Order: sequence, then structure tokens, then C-alpha cells
Amino acid sequence: MNILVLNSGSSSLKYQMIDPDAGKVLASGSVERIGMADAVLTHRAEGREPVKVSGEILDHGIAIEYVLAVLLSRNHGVIADRREIDAVGHRVVHGGELFTRSVRITDEVIRGIRDCLELAPLHNPHNLRGIEACRDHLPEAPQVAVFDTAFHGTLPPEAFLYGLPYVLYTRHKIRRYGFHGTSHRYVSERAIQLLGRGAEGTRIVTCHLGNGCSAAAILDGRSVDTSMGFTPLEGLLMGTRTGDLDPSVVLYLMGKEELSMAEVSSLMNKHSGLIGLSGVSSDMRELETAIASGNARAELALDVFTSRLRKYIGAYAATLGGLDAVVFTGGIGENSALVRQKTLNGLQFLGLTLDSDRNATGTREREITTADSRARAFVIPTDEEGVIARDTRAIISGTPT
Ligand code: ADP
Repeated sequence: MNILVLNSGSSSLKYQMIDPDAGKVLASGSVERIGMADAVLTHRAEGREPVKVSGEILDHGIAIEYVLAVLLSRNHGVIADRREIDAVGHRVVHGGELFTRSVRITDEVIRGIRDCLELAPLHNPHNLRGIEACRDHLPEAPQVAVFDTAFHGTLPPEAFLYGLPYVLYTRHKIRRYGFHGTSHRYVSERAIQLLGRGAEGTRIVTCHLGNGCSAAAILDGRSVDTSMGFTPLEGLLMGTRTGDLDPSVVLYLMGKEELSMAEVSSLMNKHSGLIGLSGVSSDMRELETAIASGNARAELALDVFTSRLRKYIGAYAATLGGLDAVVFTGGIGENSALVRQKTLNGLQFLGLTLDSDRNATGTREREITTADSRARAFVIPTDEEGVIARDTRAIISGTPT
């Protein structure tokens, strides 16, 4: 079976062609700079020449045409006819309270995703564009939506409510939703397998650390708290986002610096976090290089990043009533031994004893605590596309996800 997995952003479209039965990625790539004259498609397929095509790709519909053309091409492609695409699985950022699991896309589902547009103005409109482009260009292929928020649908009210008047929740749906759900779901399921004793009674904290970062508390395999909230701005420090911030700072700043709403939003989302604190970069690799050459502000940014993460792990251990495992995933979580070491240093009281050698090197997926550590820590590479492909297969073949 061939499932085309799509992640449509504002000016990009990432794709993978996956055979979920064989657990294989047949081809993958991206279209970047959609809407511009010099958009670029980059494509790789196993045993085929990689290819880069540049051209004017004005919208997501044209981007899909490019993707289909390269998937069908004799030299670089993996299929001979577009009917060989059995289904399309879409990453959709916000499912609101409406979607707490993956669903087959119908007109009603599209209306539902539209209803969530206001909640995720930066993401859902682009996700919808990808869906509409596939309906035009692959009308026979069933389509499935997999939501970033869905896994956190199990959050209890005490975790999802803000301390605002309750009427604002009922009237405007202002609550915490959580994001990166597909990643937290995959790595927590994998951690439960590695713990080897079934989901019941397991207490896991998952840390997805990429450009966006979030932690989640997973009890019995279900998300019971997570650090991102109404939007992906809350919680951990991120590459360019503030994470937790006293809301009064926003009001104060708007007055002091005469900032508009758009300016303050840009400040908190694009110019804060690691880049804002360090003045060096939002990219952890570049920060590590700067730290190695003695840059004190880069080190300070890393300290804020790991100290806040450590605080969340401790808080979630309290939420869970103890801790069996911590999982690190995402570009930083999977690759930065320094971040993992600085984060876990000080958490020995939770039973976590880091093994420095295992932390420094090893297989991509591995345990990084010592053999006698009471609680365990794992590095688990995330696989959001694999989850989307498997959910899509399950839904089109009528098996529960
Ligand atoms: P996204 O959230 O956009 O999917 P990723 O999950 O790819 O992003 O994470 C990107 C982050 O991972 C960047 O901060 C990058 O510097 C960091 N990263 C990737 N490789 C390494 C590495 N070897 N060491 C430290 N950080 C890394």
C-alpha cells in the first residue's frame, strides 16, 4: 500500500510516500518558497537519483502537481500511475475540541477544520490548502486528517483550563489544547514497549525538542498534561518563541515600546527564545558552537532552556505521582547530548542516573540512564509521518486507530 503523507505549511509542502505494511519510506521531499518565482522542490527516493527543481510555484495546488510529477517520473519516481497512491494522510495542526482522533476527510470534516481556523490562523489555513489541492488532483484517493492536538484530547479540565472566567472557555473555547501530539503519542508508545510492562500504571514524561518544544505527562499511555497551551507559544523556551511569560509583560511592553498587536506577536513568536536571549542563533547546533568558543550569552540561553525543561519534568513527575521514564525526541532531543546532560543533571532525586557514555554515543534509539537507574531516560527518534501513514491505512481499511 502507498500512502502519501503531506505536511503543508505557509510556504512549504513536505511529503513522504510510505508503505506502512513494509514500514518503508519510498520517497520523500519538500517544496519550499511556495508563492515565489524561485520555489524549489527537493526529492529523494531509494535507489534513485535525488533531484532539485526550481520554478514558479504559486500555490499549494501547483506544488502538488510538481510532487505528483516527480513521484511519477521515470528517473526519480516510485509509481507509474497516480492511482497507485492508495490514500493521502494530512498533518493538520489544530483539531480544537472537535477532533480527538484521526478522521477520514469529508465535507463535514473540512467544515470542522474551517471552524478551527481562528484557533490556529498560522497553520490550519495552509493545511486546508493542501487538502483541497489533493481533492482536485487526486480525486479518487481517500484522505485522512491527523491532528497535532488530538493526542492531548485526554487532558482533564484541571490541566486544560486557564484561571480565567469560565465563561471565556464556554464562549470562545479559550483553553489549553497542546500540540506535537503525534510525536508525543509515538515516542510514549515506543517508551512503553521499551519499559516492557504494558501501558497500565506507566508514568512517562516526553520532551519534544525541535524548533518548537513541548513536554507532556503521559499516564497509562494517555496525555494528562502538556506544556503548549491555547497556541504553540506557551511552555518551554523554544528557538524563537518565549514559552511561559507573565501576560503582564505584554501589556507593559505594548505601552512602553508602543507596539501593535502584530508587533508584539512577532516579538514573542519570532524574536525571542534562544535567538532572543543569545543574540546568536535559534539553532541549537550554532549555540553549542558559540558556547564552545566561550560565548557567555549563548551559554545563558542554554541555561534558561534546560532549567525550564528540568522544571517541567519535575512538575510532571508530581502530576504523574512518580516517574518511570523521560523521553527525548525532536532535532535537539535526539542529537544534543549537552542539552540532555544539563537537563537531567539535578534530577537524580527522581531516580534518574545518566550514563555519560550512552548519552554521548550509540544507536539512534537508546537508553541513556545506567543499568541500575531507578527511573529511565530514552532517546527515541520521532516518526510523525509513520504515525500519519499507519493511521491513514487503519482508517481507510476500517480498523480502529
Ligand atoms: P522542527 O521542529 O522544525 O521539525 P527539528 O526537530 O529538526 O525541527 O529540530 C531542529 C533543532 O534541532 C535545531 O535547533 C537544531 O540545531 C537542532 N539539532 C539538530 N541536530 C543537532 C545536533 N547534532 N546537535 C544539537 N542540536 C541539533
